[in-house]
Amino acid sequence: MSHHYQSVLESIHAEVLPLQSDGAVANYIPELAKVNANTFGMHLRTIEGLDYSVGSSNELFSIQSISKVFALALVVSIVGEKIFKRVGVEPSGSSFNSLVQLEYEKGIPRNPLINAGAMVVCDALIDQLDKPKKDFLGFVRRLAQNKKIGYNERVAASEKEYGFRNAALANFLKSFGNIRHDVDEVLDLYFHICSVEMSCKDLANAFVLFANHGKFPSTNEVLLTKSQTKRLNAVMQTCGFYDEAGEFSFTVGLPGKSGVGGGIVALHPHRYAVAAWSPRLNAKGNSVMGMKALELLTTKLGSSIF
Ligand code: GLU
Repeated sequence: MSHHYQSVLESIHAEVLPLQSDGAVANYIPELAKVNANTFGMHLRTIEGLDYSVGSSNELFSIQSISKVFALALVVSIVGEKIFKRVGVEPSGSSFNSLVQLEYEKGIPRNPLINAGAMVVCDALIDQLDKPKKDFLGFVRRLAQNKKIGYNERVAASEKEYGFRNAALANFLKSFGNIRHDVDEVLDLYFHICSVEMSCKDLANAFVLFANHGKFPSTNEVLLTKSQTKRLNAVMQTCGFYDEAGEFSFTVGLPGKSGVGGGIVALHPHRYAVAAWSPRLNAKGNSVMGMKALELLTTKLGSSIF
């Protein structure tokens, strides 16, 4: 099997290269636009701890919305399912930063993977953590087993500077009473968690826990119960890809999450976690090469969760 994974990744790399100049880098956060647009990397880690990679799999990039999964996992590991009283689990069918839906639904965000939902999760983390930014980073480092993972302060500042819509969402949530802390404090944590930088290798390492029933594969230590892991994976499956969650299920068939930095991470329960990164995005905000790479992966391996 080991040779198999490596040769599959190599053939995927060759097949996605012609897409290198398709799509556009996100520029609504100016700091993100500074990336080298034509990069591609991919890393797969099995739950047994075997690693396979191609391209720029060790290069750091802005994980952006992928962080929302870490925030959700952390809050669920502390307060359990009661977080779902403040945030739903339905796909939004609207853009990730929609204000309209939040008004109709009286301040209860559709799911924890859209911006408003992640802000509610950040608010709950501020309740629970002594030093929210430091503790969140510690959690991500522990999941990825890499103490060097950090925030990119320039990206966080750039998001804050241009974060008019996110500020509107946070204030809106506060007006409905679904944010308890100071709006600026919640936004500061939110912008920081989006600014975390990781490589494909770090992401695959971190997400392998979700493929392993919520246990750290190396020690079998339990972070999340089986049922909590099921819920997280289900939310990723139905809500993890902006307005393309259906398309991702249809073409790839794995739970996962994407971010506007061009990263995509997905997992096959009981088998592996895989991350792909390429900064150019399609019209829905997902990495063009990343989407194709993961579609090719499950097609070539002949297995998805369906
Ligand atoms: N920090 C970004 C924002 O709030 C996250 C976008 C994303 O990756 O979906 O706009």
